[in-house]
Amino acid sequence: MQGLMMDAPLLTSTILDHAERWHGEQKIVSRLHDGSIHSYTYSDAHTRTKKMAAALTALGVEQGDRVGTLAWNNFRHFELYFAISGMGAVTHTINPRLFEEQVTYIINHASNKVLFVDLSFVGLVEKVIGNCPKVEKIIVLCEQNEMPTDSPIADLICYEALIAAQTGDYVWPEFEERTAAALCYTSGTTGNPKGVLYSHRSTVLQTMATVAPDVLNISACDSLLPIVPMYHVNAWCQPFAAALVGAKLVLPGGGMDAASIYELMETEGVTLSAGVPTIWLMLLRYLAENNSKLTTVSRVSVGGSACPLSIIRDFDTKYGVNVIQAWGMTETSPLGTVVAPKPEHAKLDAETRYQVQSTQGRPVFGVDIRIVDDNGTELARDGVMSGHLQVRGYWVCSEYFNVDMDSPLENGWFPTGDIASISTSGFLRITDRAKDLIKSGGEWISSIELENAATSLAGVTEAAVIGVSHPRWDERPLMLIIANDSTLSKHDILAHLQDKFAKWWLPEDVLFVDDIPHTATGKISKLNLRQQYQDHFMQNNNEESTCA
Ligand code: ADP
Repeated sequence: MQGLMMDAPLLTSTILDHAERWHGEQKIVSRLHDGSIHSYTYSDAHTRTKKMAAALTALGVEQGDRVGTLAWNNFRHFELYFAISGMGAVTHTINPRLFEEQVTYIINHASNKVLFVDLSFVGLVEKVIGNCPKVEKIIVLCEQNEMPTDSPIADLICYEALIAAQTGDYVWPEFEERTAAALCYTSGTTGNPKGVLYSHRSTVLQTMATVAPDVLNISACDSLLPIVPMYHVNAWCQPFAAALVGAKLVLPGGGMDAASIYELMETEGVTLSAGVPTIWLMLLRYLAENNSKLTTVSRVSVGGSACPLSIIRDFDTKYGVNVIQAWGMTETSPLGTVVAPKPEHAKLDAETRYQVQSTQGRPVFGVDIRIVDDNGTELARDGVMSGHLQVRGYWVCSEYFNVDMDSPLENGWFPTGDIASISTSGFLRITDRAKDLIKSGGEWISSIELENAATSLAGVTEAAVIGVSHPRWDERPLMLIIANDSTLSKHDILAHLQDKFAKWWLPEDVLFVDDIPHTATGKISKLNLRQQYQDHFMQNNNEESTCA
């Protein structure tokens, strides 16, 4: 027997309609490319978005077409999120920090006929466009008087001129909720990037999950600053989440330096912000150097890579800010697990609580996880056994867009490539990417565990551990440290680690560096480091090994 309830498709346009109808007066604030601030309301955004949807139709965009965007977090990109998906096309967000060949590859692979481009990325488009024969129209996200005058690309179209030409009486089409809404490519450290195609249903469901108390607890009283870019994985669904609940949305544009972020946090009364660990390291350093305080921020969410314990502790002890760690992937839209405390955590002392916060947390309703051995047999959730992490759920990828390969699923689960354990109370701990595990003398060493332990030492800002070829032990761990205390030595680091790990786990060498390279999505670039240091132990194998 069927239930007798109304049935309406879960479409992204319904989120913006709700925002306009019930909290239309709430503000969306953006920092523009010249540093100035633009401010308007959800109601204004709704009107302009409908005009843009009409303009897309006039440009010849049809349902199912992939429309590319190369843009920072700003109000026009926000409008495009809703205009493109709302009219039935697919918002293909392109990560401008990828290599030019990858940008070219994904524009072609996605068959983008139309590209929307921020002024600051016109130069990038000029470099790749000669190899993108399918692109017919390029729209620049700016006012008419800001349009580039010396671009070699003929017929650039002005975004504001498109909006001005429309009346705003557009009516959203209604279609099936499993229709594609957005497309995002993985950064593809090995092989070509692969496209993950989100549906309206998966996006709306994840947005509803994101705002829940045990996830990010986002409400109409929040001022939300997503520093995580709108060009990667829908900025963790935060633009949708803000519109859903009527939170003030603060969009930082290209101003990703610590001073600009801090200023926005203070002037816009930001209560919640989201970013990868390197963003928070940068902000914490800025706050310390300038003796500044955060007067409104109460919590920050972090994901994309393991969050160093030093970030969690510094935010809490120095600024009274709660760090919420989450784990996810492009393929999980990305929400997977979140550190949501249970009643027993209320009694913990601060250091033990930081340990809980440094796990990857518990699955959100809508996502299930498990760990399996090499044969695919599920392993116990005992916090000890570690295995291959698999995931499934309403917003998890079932196959990649337009590739000639079998479904990536294994018995209905998506293999994440992460190695992890799950505690009896359900908390996930990522040990490593499978490819970053270090194999020393036939045994595995977790780079993330060593990094977490190193960053728990005062004076260590960031740590990276990689496996480097070793003449005797196959591979040995090499630790790179960024320190803010110039008196710290290799001896101090090893002394701090030695009671936490077996001797053979200890780094074979510790190097102090000024910089650790990061990928286009803000992760430590271990591939890059492995190449840079590949001969380190071949050249330096005279000292006694920590493994011996
Ligand atoms: P890509 O662009 O490479 O697809 P993703 O953003 O999809 O990048 O990366 C997903 C991977 O990032 C996960 O499989 C995991 O290895 C890592 N990751 C994400 N969040 C966390 C976290 N909180 N702790 C540890 N690793 C994380």
